[in-house]
Amino acid sequence: MQHCPLCYHDNISQVFDNRRRHFFECQTCALVFAAPGSYLLPAAEKQRYGRAGRDGKQKQLAQFIATLLQQLQTLQSNALEGLNFGRVLAPALLLPIQQAGHQLHQYDPFFAPEHQLLRRQYDFISCYRVFEHFHLPAKEWQIIVQALKPGGWLAISTPLLQSTAMFAKWHYKNNPTHVSFYQPQTFAYLAAHSCLQLIFAQKDFVLMQKAS
Ligand SMILES: [Zn+2]
Repeated sequence: MQHCPLCYHDNISQVFDNRRRHFFECQTCALVFAAPGSYLLPAAEKQRYGRAGRDGKQKQLAQFIATLLQQLQTLQSNALEGLNFGRVLAPALLLPIQQAGHQLHQYDPFFAPEHQLLRRQYDFISCYRVFEHFHLPAKEWQIIVQALKPGGWLAISTPLLQSTAMFAKWHYKNNPTHVSFYQPQTFAYLAAHSCLQLIFAQKDFVLMQKAS
């Protein structure tokens, strides 16, 4: 029996399939996910990230973190310690963040697998275009929530699926490293089942805060 890799319920239905991949929707948490049998092998996945992902999104990633820090500084003016989870920012782009007094640690399962960083807690965690790559979203979610300090902020960039009716034509699913897709109600479900408050979930941006 197939079950949802985020909430583990088995109330799922198929939303789309082509010759290569089958996609299912969970009726409980609204996650849309690729059938696990279609995942790329880790070596192929790493090669793809190395070739296209790392350099291509550096500017956007730096902008995402800079905007997040600006927003958080309007709420609390102290220096912040954060974790950039899943996609590493190049050292040169880290510099302005450090010069502003903040500390940003970085974890990437392929290029910076520093697992000890995941056992600490942070004022904020940023996940830029990371959630769609999760093979085991429940496990990653648990790690992220535990690594947030009480009152800490979680900022996620991932294109939200507005309705499964548009899934067949949604180009975002065509990248074979994209395997987990979220609807706004998926994050409402996660907030309701974790100690987090959902502040914002629109287009491709999600902001949550852990209860203090
Ligand atoms: Zn689910």
